[in-house]
Amino acid sequence: MAKKSECNDCFREIVHLSLAKGKILVFCSAIIVLKSTGWQTKKEFPMVWGFFGHQKINRLAVFTLPPEMFGFYKKNIDFITENAVNPDQRRYAVKEEAPRHFIDLDIYKDSLKLLLPTFSWREAAEKLSEDTLNRHGIVPWHINFMKFQLTEAFRKKDARRILMLSADIGHYIADANVPLHTTKNYNGQLTNQIGIHGFWESRLPELFSEEYDFFVGQAEYVQIPQKRAWQAVMNAHAALDSVLIFERKLTNQFSDDKKFGFDERNGVTMKNYSKEFSMRYHEMLKNQVERQMRASIKMVGDFWLTCWIDAGQPDLTQLLNYQLSKDEKEADDLEKKSWLQKVFDVRKEGDN
Ligand SMILES: [Zn+2]
Repeated sequence: MAKKSECNDCFREIVHLSLAKGKILVFCSAIIVLKSTGWQTKKEFPMVWGFFGHQKINRLAVFTLPPEMFGFYKKNIDFITENAVNPDQRRYAVKEEAPRHFIDLDIYKDSLKLLLPTFSWREAAEKLSEDTLNRHGIVPWHINFMKFQLTEAFRKKDARRILMLSADIGHYIADANVPLHTTKNYNGQLTNQIGIHGFWESRLPELFSEEYDFFVGQAEYVQIPQKRAWQAVMNAHAALDSVLIFERKLTNQFSDDKKFGFDERNGVTMKNYSKEFSMRYHEMLKNQVERQMRASIKMVGDFWLTCWIDAGQPDLTQLLNYQLSKDEKEADDLEKKSWLQKVFDVRKEGDN
């Protein structure tokens, strides 16, 4: 059971994060300033939910968990938060990584789109070939695969793997809920809207998420994880038209010098979508970014809970004393350093 003080912590943190008045948010804001997307400097800054979005989604998902899980996750909340961006960071160093973050639903015919969610990975690979699937992204299957792995880690009561896989699956789930992760036009490059990926995912949350309500309630068991993963990408894809159409409509009303402005960050002046353009776009989207962030938080909590239940609800209080050994810490640091090598050329939507 979570101790009373932990529940108080939880409440305080939710209040802080919801009302945007707590130290944590100030801290997160500092991270945004340091790390968030720049329209021109996409090589240096993330083009994804970014440090801010991914970390916030993983962190808040902890507060959806039941008492039997909460203590362990709360104790390791910094790990789950900090490691929320690992999958993006290893995209260039690990060959299989890139396709796990997206799915280009629009390349599949409608009839096939209806069938795909019913195919296991093996069935899909037999019908379409692994090459085709990898080329167009595999995020819903990968979420399901991660679900099996995390369940296994719970079964073995392997604290290190539980934490690493929880952080990872949180990342993929958050990506699956982003409309621009479900299309081949992932950065507006086919419709002369280049930069829209980072605009939607990083600039808007950075400017407006202080107003969002992140209280999503308690995690719930997921009956059919693969179906749920597909539902998420289908829902995100259904929101894609508004993402692109509203930006185009608004662009027609703005001159270039009004659409873009310059921000100073860390002493560097960067071109970015102007505050006025961002505000008008955000209004047109009618809480879409907030909805997708909330959906991500809830779904991450739901999947963590489901893995734990399917593993037989192991007693996580036995893992409360877990600490990374010196050797493990060194191995971790070494692995993270290896991700900095840019071995593979992958599409830039997840640039970090
Ligand atoms: Zn990603």
